[in-house]
Amino acid sequence: MIKDLLVVGAGSAGLMAALALKKKIPQLNVRIVRDPDIGVIGVGEGTTPNFPRFLFDYLGISRKAFYDLAEPTWKLGIRFNWGPRGRFDYTFAPQLDSRWGDLPMPNGFYCEDEFSCVDAPAALMREDKVFHKQSNGCPDIQPWHAFHIENEKFVAMLEKLTVQLGVEIIDGRVQGAERGDAGVSAVVLDDGRRLEADFFIDSSGFRAELIGKLLETPYMDFRKTLFCDRAVVGGWQREEEEILPYTTADQMDSGWCWRIEHEHRINRGYVYASDMTSDDEAEREFREKNPKVGDTRVVKFNSGCHKKMWVENVVSIGNSAGFVEPLEATALMIVCSHTQTLIDFLLHNRLEPTPSMRDLYNELTHSTWLDIRDFLGLHYQLNTALDTPYWRRCREETDLSDLRPLLEFYKENGPTGFARYRMRSSQNDFGIEGYFVMLVGQKVPHGNRHQPTDLEWQRWNAHREDLIRKAKDGLTVKEALAYVRHPQWQWHGDRAAG
Ligand SMILES: Cc1cc2nc3c(=O)[nH]c(=O)nc-3n(C[C@H](O)[C@H](O)[C@H](O)COP(=O)(O)OP(=O)(O)OC[C@H]3O[C@@H](n4cnc5c(N)ncnc54)[C@H](O)[C@@H]3O)c2cc1C
Repeated sequence: MIKDLLVVGAGSAGLMAALALKKKIPQLNVRIVRDPDIGVIGVGEGTTPNFPRFLFDYLGISRKAFYDLAEPTWKLGIRFNWGPRGRFDYTFAPQLDSRWGDLPMPNGFYCEDEFSCVDAPAALMREDKVFHKQSNGCPDIQPWHAFHIENEKFVAMLEKLTVQLGVEIIDGRVQGAERGDAGVSAVVLDDGRRLEADFFIDSSGFRAELIGKLLETPYMDFRKTLFCDRAVVGGWQREEEEILPYTTADQMDSGWCWRIEHEHRINRGYVYASDMTSDDEAEREFREKNPKVGDTRVVKFNSGCHKKMWVENVVSIGNSAGFVEPLEATALMIVCSHTQTLIDFLLHNRLEPTPSMRDLYNELTHSTWLDIRDFLGLHYQLNTALDTPYWRRCREETDLSDLRPLLEFYKENGPTGFARYRMRSSQNDFGIEGYFVMLVGQKVPHGNRHQPTDLEWQRWNAHREDLIRKAKDGLTVKEALAYVRHPQWQWHGDRAAG
């Protein structure tokens, strides 16, 4: 039976895992070892809606603590400046996998020419507003939002809450490990200390100290589907720019560029393929399109994941398990969902996990990674807008063989929810809606086209105009932040009263 659990690493992955394990299984003795000299990844991060659900609903972290300590801004979705339309918005609510009651076909069939303001968050994004107003003027904070956070602030908050819960954090560098009958029995630090445990979480980031270096678990790289392997990262202090309620993804000559909104800083990064452009050339294009960028640094990565995330008595969570470029901001989403799955499985087996439970965990987690690989690959493969060598390669070479049944179904039947039965089952926040937004957003032709009548168009336009009118009356991020920071603001779930 697992009694002592050691987490290697105190980045957001290790701390979220430690916090959740201790909270949900209080009888566990949970400790963390981390090396302050190595530090945490320290990037600006976008998230998806499972992140607030995990923090507030699953872990019971108070919204006040989170807003005070992590200082997030809200994210309603991603603005893609991308593809033949030039622009489309991906929100976290069903825009296309949805149908108005007075129309005969799902929304996707009405978006061939104009695809905008199809749901409330999309209309808010168009107006640079983040929430509707309640009748008393306060923001109506709906669950279809995620956040932008700064990694260091978030990590500092998690550290505080983890220690409050009774988790011990030990400073030291893991240098090796001892093996016993049940797997790893202790990790050994560079000063000779030994830390014993019956179960280990490897959250050591890209170093993958246990799952990779020690256990030599094979790594599956995604280079046949995702060609980018570097990012040049920079940003600037916000001046007069509005805080946008979404992440922006701009297509670039050899990849794409993110824009993440923090309250006082704008964070940008150009993700590119190093075999299609040089670091110097990427930096030049990055600066040319973002003249305000200050110092930059290049981050190298190898998109892919370990073939197994759970080996013997070691489970890897975070960048140690796998990594893909942040095109859909999936890393923390995976940390949340896999941590929950692990805890469910451990509790079901009363802390004596069976081999078949471990196998199921590996199948589920692996399938999540493959799904994300293919979903990101689709973003690239469908983009017909640019004719640079990089984008030609994306169209010609991106391996999406696992998506063939779904894409063929779409080609014949269009954006109908029945397509979900052609998807691999896995745990993510995108679902069939994510695929529809990419397919419709990039104008991929399909059969079974619908010719709406004049009456249908009237109804369709009335719905959109109503959404736009309400959105125009909404609050900006700055205005909404002022409300939630007001001393009289009280959180009652998301629908707070001012
Ligand atoms: C350019 C870029 C952009 C990103 N954007 C996003 C985004 O928009 N959204 C998103 O969800 N994610 C994003 N990510 C990923 C995200 O930052 C991470 O997945 C997340 O923060 C978790 O990191 P981690 O805890 O796994 O690793 P890290 O933050 O690297 O932490 C590793 C920990 O392990 C410890 N450690 C390492 N080796 C040892 C050792 N030998 N002994 C002891 N301790 C050790 C370190 O001290 C540290 O505490 C991005 C990543 C990159 C590179």
